[in-house]
Amino acid sequence: PTQANLLEVNNIEVLYNHVILALKGVSLEVPKGGITALLGGNGAGKSTTLKAISNLIHSERGEVTKGSIIYDGENVVDMSPADLVNRGVVQVMEGRHCFEHLTVEENLLTGAYTRKEGRSEIAADLELVYEYFPRLKERRRSQAGYTSGGEQQMTAIGRALMSRPQMILLDEPSMGLAPQLVEQIFEIVSRLNREQGVTFLLAEQNTNVALRYANTGFILENGRVVMEGNAKELRENPDVKEFYLGMS
Ligand code: ATP
Repeated sequence: PTQANLLEVNNIEVLYNHVILALKGVSLEVPKGGITALLGGNGAGKSTTLKAISNLIHSERGEVTKGSIIYDGENVVDMSPADLVNRGVVQVMEGRHCFEHLTVEENLLTGAYTRKEGRSEIAADLELVYEYFPRLKERRRSQAGYTSGGEQQMTAIGRALMSRPQMILLDEPSMGLAPQLVEQIFEIVSRLNREQGVTFLLAEQNTNVALRYANTGFILENGRVVMEGNAKELRENPDVKEFYLGMS
């Protein structure tokens, strides 16, 4: 039985600056309600894939020159990032990108900017974010730029949640964080998936942690998918063990 896919990326190519072919025909599926990992080393094309989906690629002089991206039955190639947010797709950028001069809470509220609901709904969503990230509640009046890397990652995910997303594209959530914090972040991702039904597509260089929390995975090398499968199979695959899990 095939599970419904919330997202289908079909054979996309991405070109930067009209010359650099970063993706050479990438296809992947993201089942609704699942956690899908996009794996691979430095420069493999993980961020590019996420940015092609969210259409943040344009701000980096990149464009999708081939293929289609079907979200919830609709081709969203070239749809503006704001329209995608309205349809429930939101990206958390690598490196977190908080507004450093705003407080943690102000950062969270910027995530609700496209919403038409009133104050009480937004206040309720803020409480929901604080329920998942109690640390952010403690730090809510701190200037984001002065909070720790882990807190900034939490703020970035919390801000995405404020748009009531159906799907979050999460770029390298483990980057620069201590192992224990990485585990904490992934636990919360997993809870958001189970309890709030948020679908995740996450890019990770940390294959080990990503495959423990994801249901399915795709491995990219040099702009192409070289392996895919369910997470358990990938974890037990000898090539994955040797090249991505650091054991043989
Ligand atoms: P990383 O973890 O280092 O971000 P990645 O798998 O996410 O790795 P991408 O950032 O998607 O890889 O990069 C894929 C390829 O596209 C690389 O060869 C990279 O040099 C190139 N690239 C990425 N961004 C740009 C850009 N803005 N302009 C030109 N080339 C780019």
